Amino acid sequence: MTYGQHVRWGIFTYFLAFIPITIWISYSQNWSAIRLWDRWWEMVLCFILCIIGSMMPDLDIKSKSKTVVYSLLIPIDLVLILFMYYRAAAIIGFFALIPNVLKHRGMLHSPVAAFLIPAPLLIIPIFLTGKVDYKQIGVSYYAAMVLGYLSHLITDRKE
Ligand SMILES: [Zn+2]
Repeated sequence: MTYGQHVRWGIFTYFLAFIPITIWISYSQNWSAIRLWDRWWEMVLCFILCIIGSMMPDLDIKSKSKTVVYSLLIPIDLVLILFMYYRAAAIIGFFALIPNVLKHRGMLHSPVAAFLIPAPLLIIPIFLTGKVDYKQIGVSYYAAMVLGYLSHLITDRKE
């Protein structure tokens, strides 16, 4: 599958995931319609994460997906360095190196990776807020990226 096809499947996957994700967000906002409306940016972020997820498996090959994901990671890492979050910057840098030594359609193209790689989206909010509040631990972001990632694995298999 080409980059464009993976992204299109990623977008399609988000449209399937939109209703369950919206239900989760309104649940986390105690079913308040006004507060759900206030969380529009969470749905936009989920959309972006779903598409990024659909690109991630092809980091193990020279691909347009890799160029796009690294083009996002480099400024994020730079900002972390400039604001002296060296530990976070180092962790991102470390994990960004790994795909370069993996075999194409190896580890990154496994369902385990689909659930493991987006895990920081669940864990980072715990570090930021210092508490485990399951309504606030980034479930929607995690789900969006996992689903995007899985859409890549499923569509690769159909070739
Ligand atoms: Zn692939």
